[in-house]
Amino acid sequence: MSLPAFDVAAVRADFPLLAESVQGMPLVYLDSAATSQKPRVVLDAERDFLERSNAAVHRGAHTLAAEATELYEDARAAVAGFVGAAPDDLVWTHGATEGLNLIAYAIGNATLGRGAPASARLALRPGDELAVTEAEHHANIVPWQELAARTGAILRVIRIRDDGSVDLDHAAEVIGSRTRVVAFTHVSNVLGIVNPVAEIVALAQGVGALTVLDACQSAPHLPLDLPGLGVDLAVFSGHKMQGPYGIGGLYGRREVLAALPPFLTGGSMITHVTFERTEFLPPPQRFEAGTQPVSQAIALAASVRYLEGLGMAAVHAHEQMLERRVREGLAGIDGVRLLGAADGAERVALQAFVVDGVHAHDVGQFLDARGVAVRVGHHCAEPVHARLGVTASVRASAALYNTIEDVDRMLEAVSGVRAYFG
Ligand code: PLP
Repeated sequence: MSLPAFDVAAVRADFPLLAESVQGMPLVYLDSAATSQKPRVVLDAERDFLERSNAAVHRGAHTLAAEATELYEDARAAVAGFVGAAPDDLVWTHGATEGLNLIAYAIGNATLGRGAPASARLALRPGDELAVTEAEHHANIVPWQELAARTGAILRVIRIRDDGSVDLDHAAEVIGSRTRVVAFTHVSNVLGIVNPVAEIVALAQGVGALTVLDACQSAPHLPLDLPGLGVDLAVFSGHKMQGPYGIGGLYGRREVLAALPPFLTGGSMITHVTFERTEFLPPPQRFEAGTQPVSQAIALAASVRYLEGLGMAAVHAHEQMLERRVREGLAGIDGVRLLGAADGAERVALQAFVVDGVHAHDVGQFLDARGVAVRVGHHCAEPVHARLGVTASVRASAALYNTIEDVDRMLEAVSGVRAYFG
């Protein structure tokens, strides 16, 4: 089946910031894994809502409130649809970090005996195990570490191999009868490798453990069907998928969301409150306490509609071409070592690397002076850096609006690093 033509020049014209210069040179933006640029339709959607339709949703008897509620719930349907889910199975969060904390705190609340009778099956006992991989972002490590500290559960770590791939033999050893949660990333924000979701889900399901997928680095790049992947819960982040800041999604299988007690409590998530007791709304509202990021939700919907208009298969194919150029180009530069260079692995266009004898921060500054924006440091993933024997790396991450010329300017700049610092 042939894909619709992908016109990268037309796409670039939709992103005002890409026309900017940096240090007197046209900007090459290769830091989309940290945060993506936003197309005009997203900026307009947020402004239009605030200018014309702004009102508090789900309350108020006035016309504007009804209109705002309709736009907000349409946005939920659009974003849920983008990840293959039904609207009621999508909870708005302020980002992926909040989504993962929501899940961990809700399980902690189930452990305290809170929630519906069905919540009891999520409760942890001392000695129960939570498993993560070695390649997680801190957002998918620390909430589990904290949950373990609160409940007496034990955090176990599934190793990665030297080439960055998840060691499935080790996963099969770690995931056992005590495992209650397996939380893992779809795509590591350091390695760029697409993890074998089906295999990990099968291991977790085999022992009745809950699966939690961090889809931050896959949602902007791959056609995504979260229910089809078979995970129980998944999070993603609006600002990494051409959407605004302060909005993200938490997808949950209906039975799992129904069993989860709330995390944040207060207004908008209740049916009835007395000083003696409170009844909670069903999901998704049960997890949406307080005034919600309404304009951001509507703008995120504009972003996914924009991506769907281009076609995620076409976006993916374009980015695969960039991915090959980035990886082959970097691999061909003397003194450059790629992190997670697993041969034949499915990947997104995100590659971390180190340059022999030159600190990542110096490489970043050298590239910046040539108009090339990359990320340096540990990218909120210290353990995977420690595992690969480095403290910091340089990360080039592309998105739908990048061109081969962008990649080549980055490669040319990296080629000059050692001569300059040597
Ligand atoms: N997980 C991964 C893999 C990420 O790359 C990031 C962001 O860097 C996060 C989680 C945190 O996302 P958010 O910024 O939405 O909290």
